[in-house]
Amino acid sequence: TTRIVLASRPHGAPQQDNFRTETLDLGQPAEGEALLETLYLSLDPYMRGRMSDAPSYSPPVQIGGPMVGGTVSRVVAAPGGDLSPGDVVLGYGGWQTHSIERTAHLRRLDADRAPLSTALGVLGMPGFTAYAGLLKIGAPQPGETVVVAAASGPVGSAVGQIARAKGARAVGIAGGPEKVAYLTELGFDAAIDHRAADFADQLAAATPDGIDVYFENVGGKVFDAVLPRLNEFARIPVCGLVAGYNATSLPDGPNRVPQLMGAILRKSLTVRGFIQREFVKELGAQFEQDMAAWIADGTVQHKEDLVEGLDHAVEAFQGLLEGKNFGKLVVKVAD
Ligand code: NDP
Repeated sequence: TTRIVLASRPHGAPQQDNFRTETLDLGQPAEGEALLETLYLSLDPYMRGRMSDAPSYSPPVQIGGPMVGGTVSRVVAAPGGDLSPGDVVLGYGGWQTHSIERTAHLRRLDADRAPLSTALGVLGMPGFTAYAGLLKIGAPQPGETVVVAAASGPVGSAVGQIARAKGARAVGIAGGPEKVAYLTELGFDAAIDHRAADFADQLAAATPDGIDVYFENVGGKVFDAVLPRLNEFARIPVCGLVAGYNATSLPDGPNRVPQLMGAILRKSLTVRGFIQREFVKELGAQFEQDMAAWIADGTVQHKEDLVEGLDHAVEAFQGLLEGKNFGKLVVKVAD
């Protein structure tokens, strides 16, 4: 296999020299394992967390270890199991051209049902994150206002479209005019560029009745603009804080925790963090049904940003944390 390993831990934004490409022989799969050829590799913001040894909900990648990640792969060999060579599976092969994985951790995919790479996006982990976080924690009611940033990405775009399907008003925030125009195409009721100088004023104008659900994907300046707009009993599913993943120090300015706690108290806010896997048992099957139906009837549209070749993975990942991706970022590793 040719694989990309973590060479050193980044300080701030990941650099090329934090990664190293190496080639090695994986050997043969044992009973209960499969040798797989990677077709698609998912690149996701959480991978920045795995590069650090700061405490997190999952252990870090070891120095010299392969970068982790969700993959769609073709079975090369699977002795003694019920997978056959040529089957395509969803797994967790990481940043490499081939992997050996336990077959119990693999799920067979059907290319006739949906394009294979959607198992990493709208029909996979990010789509489920949007579904579970919005419906379980956000619980938008008809007529309420839902705000989400990173709104052209796989999580945010699904959040906005599911909110609309539930009768709520969806306000999307994204970086740059192209992404903002795309949000309007998706049916968001309003779309705002967080890079605009008057961003906070634009957000206020787009939320005349305040904000009932803020699906938190980014943190930072977006949260600062959202906080004064929150209504009494607003819900905040805390899904991600990507604006700060490369941060090396606290933001400038005074400590804002007292202000935040004051708002939580005065407005009876619900702020609830979650990691999507918490809800898989409870909602996984329902998600698959609902999302397939929403895609089929056009309720949920999705966009993929496909990068060709594992050798472009590092650059693409660096761009993900800076908003250079437009849609679900996937690396096509092989045909
Ligand atoms: P995206 O494809 O949307 O990529 C991240 C996007 O974040 C960028 O494209 C950029 O979009 C935006 N962004 C980056 N920096 C900033 C900034 N400073 N201010 C505002 N926006 C910024 O990612 P995903 O849809 O895969 O993930 C979205 C969020 O959900 C992430 O925070 C991720 O960590 C989180 N997540 C959480 C999970 C959980 O279980 N809790 C599971 C999966 C994802 P733009 O150009 O529009 O600014």
